[in-house]
Amino acid sequence: MDHHSGDCGLIGVWRGILWLDMALALPVALLVFKSGWTVLRENLPWLVDEMAIDPEVIHRQVMQVPGVINCHSIASRGLLGRQIFIDMHLVVKPTTVEAAHTITEAVEERLETLYGPARISIHIEPHTYESEQITY
Ligand SMILES: [Zn+2]
Repeated sequence: MDHHSGDCGLIGVWRGILWLDMALALPVALLVFKSGWTVLRENLPWLVDEMAIDPEVIHRQVMQVPGVINCHSIASRGLLGRQIFIDMHLVVKPTTVEAAHTITEAVEERLETLYGPARISIHIEPHTYESEQITY
């Protein structure tokens, strides 16, 4: 009988230590998880699909390319200086495919010079198709 109750006491103490361990380990685990998440967010913004560049800044740059009338639906993601993906709709003055293409190349060149390696996808719209309204 004595021996048995002694065992129970030991298990009780052992359980107490386990609970204490968990109570201490949980906040530490949360902290590690949180700081890991912060590091991940800072280094890999494309994973959380953040805007890499302010669309208004891109808009301002693109508008300076000759022949560009408007651009909208601007999105970008990636890591500045390493690899950027930019996506936009471009309204251009000329109606010939060749001239429009020359403008998109000028836009691409300008953005690549500014932001480093970039994959730019431009959706061209003729002048008449869009209103003058600027939307992001
Ligand atoms: Zn559009």
